[in-house]
Amino acid sequence: MDNKINLIINVLDQMYPDAYCELNHRNDFELLIAVLLSAQTTDKAVNKLTHNLFEKYHNPQDYLNVNIKELENDIKSIGLYRNKAKNIKLLSQQLIDNYQGIVPSERVDLESLAGVGRKTANVVLANAFNIPAFAVDTHVERVAKRLKLAYQNDSVLVVEKKLMKKFSKDLWSKLHHQFIFFGRYHCKAINPNCQNCLLKEICRYPSR
Ligand code: SF4
Repeated sequence: MDNKINLIINVLDQMYPDAYCELNHRNDFELLIAVLLSAQTTDKAVNKLTHNLFEKYHNPQDYLNVNIKELENDIKSIGLYRNKAKNIKLLSQQLIDNYQGIVPSERVDLESLAGVGRKTANVVLANAFNIPAFAVDTHVERVAKRLKLAYQNDSVLVVEKKLMKKFSKDLWSKLHHQFIFFGRYHCKAINPNCQNCLLKEICRYPSR
């Protein structure tokens, strides 16, 4: 491993030794729903919503028992709620029809579910099943590009592949959370804390 990679690992370990998934959930199914709801929405907004949502809906059948309008109404505080309600209903039906109502632990199965793309599958694989994955969300992508771990115009998938190549597999899931914490609380999209940044020397970001 080169010096730059070691530096990133050490600094993130120092700053965020206990980084974790900030989406509140009590089981695999709630995690899946929370990640699906989090698309283009903050974890904070999702947690506010799921506080009551998860008291009302406990399993896939519960989501099928209400009509779509009621579900839309229950999640309308977040963006894209109509599409998300539609996907939750479809996904619940798929879980019951194909997986005995249980969240599957294979990527190919997860990605076959409505509204579940690669990023959502990665988050579920890592958090629910402890399977190494490096989910790339907006924070991970920004940090990776600023730290010259990927090119500015790389796609999300290319960023993910580069990160997986540069860091050892046993660190992927932890680093995913640490990159998110670093991006969310330190290397923010606007006004990053460059003055007090231990990674300044390896950063390409211009406003230092
Ligand atoms: S120097 Fe600034 S932009 Fe670069 S990693 Fe640190 S906080 Fe982020």
